[in-house]
Amino acid sequence: MTTTRTPSRHPAGPKPLLSGQHSLTELITIRIFLIAPFLALVAIVVLVWGWGLSWLDVGLATGFYVVTTLGITIGYHRYFTHGAFTANRPLRIALAVAGGLAAQGPVISWVADHRRHHAFSDCEGDPHSPWLYGTSPFALARGFWHAHLGWLFGRDKTNIARFAPDLAADADIRMVDRLFPLWVAATVLVPAGLCGDPRVGGGPGPGSGESAFDVQQRDPSRALRQ
Ligand SMILES: [Zn+2]
Repeated sequence: MTTTRTPSRHPAGPKPLLSGQHSLTELITIRIFLIAPFLALVAIVVLVWGWGLSWLDVGLATGFYVVTTLGITIGYHRYFTHGAFTANRPLRIALAVAGGLAAQGPVISWVADHRRHHAFSDCEGDPHSPWLYGTSPFALARGFWHAHLGWLFGRDKTNIARFAPDLAADADIRMVDRLFPLWVAATVLVPAGLCGDPRVGGGPGPGSGESAFDVQQRDPSRALRQ
């Protein structure tokens, strides 16, 4: 018995998923751009360790990075903007504060902007569409600037009553929103204070009331031994 086989399950359907392979030059370039910044970070840590950097600095940087990043991605974005999951009151407040520590703006207006973006993605009404000015090279350059940074300097405010009435009706969230300047101050001053950086008010250094900077000024060899 013979069967006839069609050459493809979708003879007139979608085109193949792949279309060749990246060249060696592309692969090397991509690896350099991905790996070099991390190597540079490791190198600078090695170079300044002991007098410009300590485990406390590393811990603070890591801790604040994780908290503020998750505050935006899980809090401001997935939870408050898109309602991707439910949270009890303490977690809801904590997510709003963590997002505020990222200094990207008060939670209610951030959410209103982002909901407006989704409602009008890349069309008129999108707060940061790159297509606002047309498709000529100059218009695209202007749009590129507007979409990435320029929109932050605009004066238009997204209507909270239309895009974030749920958050505006929540007294807890209104309070966290109003306290945004406090979260920004905290995200700058708390790590500096904990490190005892003399340039920002000067908190206690590790165990002695002086910072690594002070130690190095007085006795560079002792600082290097720490
Ligand atoms: Zn989104």
